[in-house]
Amino acid sequence: MSGEKDAEGGRSETEANGESGTTKRRTFLKGSMATAGVGIVSASAGEASGDASNVKQGSGTVATATGDQMVATVHPQATRVGADVLAEGGNAVDAAVATQFALNVVQPHSSGIGGGGFMLVYSADEDVVYAVDNRERAPLGATPEMFLDDDGEPIPFEKRHTSGQAVGVPGTLRACDVALKRFGSKSMQELIDPAIALASNACPRVTVDAPLAESIANNVDLFNDAARSVFAPNGDPLQEGDPLVQPDLAKTFRLIRDEGIGAFYKGEIAEATAETVQQSGGSMTVNDLAGYNVTMDHPEHVEFGDVTIRTMSLPSSGGLTIGHILKLLEPFDLGQYDSRSFERYHALIEAFHLAYADRGAYMGDKLFADAPWQGLFDEEYVKRRRRRISFDEAGPERSPGDPWSFQPGNPYRVSPLADSGTGERRATDLCSDKGQTTHFTVADSDGNMVSWTSTIEQFFGTKMMVPGYGFMLNNELTDFDAVPGGPNQVQPNKRPLSSTSPTIVFRDGEPYMTVGSPGGKTIITTVAQVLLNVVEYGMSLQSAIAAPRIYADVDPSVYWEDGLPKGVRKKLRARGHRLNDEPTQLGNVQAIRVLDSGKYRGAADGRRNGAVYDGSK
Ligand code: GLU
Repeated sequence: MSGEKDAEGGRSETEANGESGTTKRRTFLKGSMATAGVGIVSASAGEASGDASNVKQGSGTVATATGDQMVATVHPQATRVGADVLAEGGNAVDAAVATQFALNVVQPHSSGIGGGGFMLVYSADEDVVYAVDNRERAPLGATPEMFLDDDGEPIPFEKRHTSGQAVGVPGTLRACDVALKRFGSKSMQELIDPAIALASNACPRVTVDAPLAESIANNVDLFNDAARSVFAPNGDPLQEGDPLVQPDLAKTFRLIRDEGIGAFYKGEIAEATAETVQQSGGSMTVNDLAGYNVTMDHPEHVEFGDVTIRTMSLPSSGGLTIGHILKLLEPFDLGQYDSRSFERYHALIEAFHLAYADRGAYMGDKLFADAPWQGLFDEEYVKRRRRRISFDEAGPERSPGDPWSFQPGNPYRVSPLADSGTGERRATDLCSDKGQTTHFTVADSDGNMVSWTSTIEQFFGTKMMVPGYGFMLNNELTDFDAVPGGPNQVQPNKRPLSSTSPTIVFRDGEPYMTVGSPGGKTIITTVAQVLLNVVEYGMSLQSAIAAPRIYADVDPSVYWEDGLPKGVRKKLRARGHRLNDEPTQLGNVQAIRVLDSGKYRGAADGRRNGAVYDGSK
């Protein structure tokens, strides 16, 4: 495995980047935060160059930086907010919370207090990883049939994703509150202030960036009046470079600052939220909001090669499915083939098909549906599934296996679909599942790390802004199956199945890297490929993130990114893989590696405008 290769020094690219496979225990520089500054490198700039401003603009390449503390987000101003918190002595959780509020302002289409997500926290003192699950929940009035029409047919996605029924009870703000109380050193009052300044467009100014402009243009016709008044104020969609002014959002943040999160979950904001949802056909009440809480437990862990991967457990399918994919691939020793070879991509596609068949059949909120988590990782089960992979040709369309027969005891709930072993078969619709959301990550000089994927599901969620309060409402409940009967059917208070996979990796018991991505179901394959690139191929973060990705699930279609060599595509097609004609951009990764020196290497994807903090002044 790559760890050995690294140790032998056989991975020159990695070494050149200071990312050798063996991580020594960090010498954490307690108290050094006060001397650190706020250098930011954006996804176009590559490595920090010591430029006085330390903010570089452009697009397309993975930004990296090295420092004693690190923030990587999709946007330079959000990264700067987190960096400032670290520079002022805040810890990783403080910085992550401030960053989340800032992201709500500068990237209002992809996350915010109207949504939810999954947050991993590594507490260095305790040497424990916590999962703060802030997934949105179905309101108590939700029913398994709520996404069916009068004829019992699923309401088309295009219709149901803008309906009030799609809005889950939001969890992001509660996660900020709980995480701060449990791990933070600063108050929410001070951490929300930078976002208030950004939303007021006081100082620094916020302008619309290219991804936001594109998203506004794509969604302007679906916006409610409140959203249109912010994002198309004179009827015309805001363009790249236009000022982004959000006074109602600033007002909401001030309310939260002055009155606490009760204003959002019980007070006037809760009332306005429930009213907005109900007016558009949803059932959410103030009681649903008041009853919301996050859960805090521990993530899945999977041993792969010489690392331990800790990532989200159900209701995110990320942990089980990434683990399953890697276990299917492990004996192929893909590192023996070139990272852009036919063999690698063929094996990936085959493993994806198999793993997604099981994902669709067996996974749902773990509090409502038992999943065969032990069976999925049973060596014999994985071996039998792996035997279906041939390097001579593409496999047939995959059905789920029977992991239950490899798991002792009886499930406490078996869905009809899982019983029949047929699983839910849905054609992939990457137009509706391609990658909204945002992933960001923070590490502080005490060794604490946060890996947080935050979402309102589609870009701009339901396209509904709560009038007078300036935040978008998620459409997360469309992640439930529209057709009842399976483990992921709608049920009151249940969390819809997710693919979100914030991840923290350990090697020799020490933190080794964080990684995560947006992208709906493609999150799983994106994170799995970056992990493979680093762990199996020994790539630097920059190369691992930049490398062309592919995506496939139960559907035969294979999505691929620019950069997948033509010859490989030809060979894949010749073996029977149904590659799309055109490339598709997949995922947007932010990640941190812990280097041998104990410093952090941060990386932000160039597929959007990612930016990292280099820890300097
Ligand atoms: N709703 C998605 C999930 O939880 C995340 C949103 C996205 O990235 O598309 O799987």
